[in-house]
Amino acid sequence: MITHRELFLKNVAQTSDFPLSLEIERAEGVYMYGKEGKAYMDLISGIGVSNVGHRHPKVTQAIHNQVDKYLHLMVYGEYIQTPQLLLAEALVKTLDKGCRKYPVLDNVYFTNSGTEAVEGAMKLAKRYTGRQEIISCVNAYHGATQGALSLSGSENFKRNYRPLLPEIKQIKHGNFEDIQLITFKTAAIFIEIIGGESGVRVPDSQYFIELGKQCDLTGTLLIIDEIQTGFGRTGTFWAFEQFGFYPDVLLCAKGMGGGMPIGAFIANQKVMAVFKNNPILGHITTFGGHPVSAAASLATLNVIYEEKLLDDVKRKAQIFRDLLVHEKIKEVRNQGLMMAVEFEDFDTLKPIIDRAIEKGVITDWFLFCDNSMRIAPPLIITDEEIRKACKVILSVIK
Ligand code: PMP
Repeated sequence: MITHRELFLKNVAQTSDFPLSLEIERAEGVYMYGKEGKAYMDLISGIGVSNVGHRHPKVTQAIHNQVDKYLHLMVYGEYIQTPQLLLAEALVKTLDKGCRKYPVLDNVYFTNSGTEAVEGAMKLAKRYTGRQEIISCVNAYHGATQGALSLSGSENFKRNYRPLLPEIKQIKHGNFEDIQLITFKTAAIFIEIIGGESGVRVPDSQYFIELGKQCDLTGTLLIIDEIQTGFGRTGTFWAFEQFGFYPDVLLCAKGMGGGMPIGAFIANQKVMAVFKNNPILGHITTFGGHPVSAAASLATLNVIYEEKLLDDVKRKAQIFRDLLVHEKIKEVRNQGLMMAVEFEDFDTLKPIIDRAIEKGVITDWFLFCDNSMRIAPPLIITDEEIRKACKVILSVIK
């Protein structure tokens, strides 16, 4: 009889020759359970998604409630759908903190994914500014479709898919001199607060303030990609809150859905209005902001506040930092529970990750940083679970 693994390799499209191939039957909290009930502690939240844990009861309840009312009704933007309204209102409330240029980020366009949020925001920037040039960062990851891939900071990933979008320029994340490359020709800069796939790179505390000044001066939209940092990962609801500035457009997805697919780009209503004419329907999606995903997302947002998950992020990250000390660990970089544990090289790290998985602890590396271990657990992880996970990691290093 053909096994599930054989079927997976035969009929499910593969993106590498070495998929993890774990078969999970059930997941709850920080744990996933494989065949014969083997427990795996999920230290990467698959990836950066299960911030409130797998199948949080308030999230699954919201999903059940919505499933009993309606699923898809109509393409985006036509019908009034309560889950979208309530989610948009709650998101805007998290952003109601004063602003550099505009009154506030008060207008949410819902998508199905992070990449689609990036794509929509690229179009928005071109229309709003009437400019073509877009800037992104070396070693940035913003998604895999052709527009988002054009922004990617890795030539290796782009090379065989050219021609991609023209007029894309790259600057170094966190580099003050490069800020001058943003000019009156630049429509937008797309930038993560913490470089995610580059291996958790935290910029100087003044960096985004200076970046914001240059964007103000040149009329460039400052588009902040919080797809990986959003919904509490770094210890504040949005990571930008820790850097003393305010974005023009904010992108989110991943952790936003509590395990359901949803993303968004958020701007001021005046900016977003460009989609309404010349032509009308300037940006269209069938499923974006699906009512079940929107209901799950609102429940996720509420759980983060009701369970005061943000309060413990920095303290929990410090437990990891205190415990993950070993001569083979070169450095630990983190912003809250977005962490990178650096080893000498990939050959040192790979067997450590593999052995940890065998022992039931799941970590990973980064797309553009293969000597560092990714740790991004659900924010609900307990102190005891952190100690247990670190014990396993240290034992397999040896
Ligand atoms: N931006 C960032 C910073 C991301 O980490 C990701 C996903 N890894 C994306 C965009 C793309 O999101 P998605 O996979 O949901 O399309």
